[in-house]
Amino acid sequence: MSVFCNLFGHKYEVSKKVTYHVKEYKCCNCNKQLTTNGNGQLVELTPKYQEINSILSRIHNKRQARLRREELHIAYKMTS
Ligand SMILES: [Zn+2]
Repeated sequence: MSVFCNLFGHKYEVSKKVTYHVKEYKCCNCNKQLTTNGNGQLVELTPKYQEINSILSRIHNKRQARLRREELHIAYKMTS
């Protein structure tokens, strides 16, 4: 932990949006990383959470892609 963080606390910024609810945060002074866990609490971004987040992110992206396809399909039906 940097001296600055020791005195003033960490200054977290969002480093990655995993899903609508889960984000990763990084302290811009000492690079300490946090993430949102399943209960919506902020926890330290351990390798285990990194793995969980990468899976969540894959599921989220797949879901988004499917939603887009369904929208296209509906739009196509409406115009034909
Ligand atoms: Zn810090």
